[in-house]
Amino acid sequence: MASWHDYPATAQLNPDVITLPSPCLVLLIGLSGAGKSTFAARHFRATEVVSSDTCRALVRDDEADQRATTDAFEVVHLLTKLRLRAHRTTVIDATNLKRADRAHLLKLAQSAAVPAAAIVLDLPRALCHERNQRRQGRDFGPDVLEAQEARLRSDLRSLSEDGLEPIVILDSVAAIDSSRVGRATSSIGDASSGSPSESRPT
Ligand code: GDP
Ligand code: MG
Repeated sequence: MASWHDYPATAQLNPDVITLPSPCLVLLIGLSGAGKSTFAARHFRATEVVSSDTCRALVRDDEADQRATTDAFEVVHLLTKLRLRAHRTTVIDATNLKRADRAHLLKLAQSAAVPAAAIVLDLPRALCHERNQRRQGRDFGPDVLEAQEARLRSDLRSLSEDGLEPIVILDSVAAIDSSRVGRATSSIGDASSGSPSESRPT
């Protein structure tokens, strides 16, 4: 696992409450199996979450079909563009490990004048691997997670340079379990603002 020093200087490590601007583009970042989809379902409305796996399924009937990736991300980007243009909080449920992949999403947020935040679920690779082995369609070899982790480590520092704020790191199962998400009052007219989603939204 990373030490504190691997994280961007502006990162918040394991806060009790994650306070997000509203509206906001939220990038969930983590290895496959880190718990991004679980976290998204727990803290955000289903319609706020744009999932690369769901978009793979929409274009190829199979959320694990990696050949669908290019098309799936076209859908991810379109949905994100339209939602941000309407000033709706949008949560990207994808690994978001590469700076280049994040750049396009950040450009969409910038164009819509919506701030962007990062929530990194930084769990040990061995735990992610163990979880993936128990999931259908995710039984890829450990080398896939090794490559993902190398990417996470090498690109993590760029988060603060890319203007993401807040950058939140949750580095244990306990920290992920106990975290809550609150939303700051809107500055640009998101109708869903001001109500902390400290329990699962309906
Ligand atoms: P993702 O690949 O990052 O989207 O990870 P998922 O949210 O799909 O979670 C991967 C696996 O880990 C699933 O089988 C979840 O049920 C399990 N999982 C996710 N979060 C937790 C958690 O907080 N505790 C436990 N015990 N399992 C979890
Ligand atoms: Mg997922």
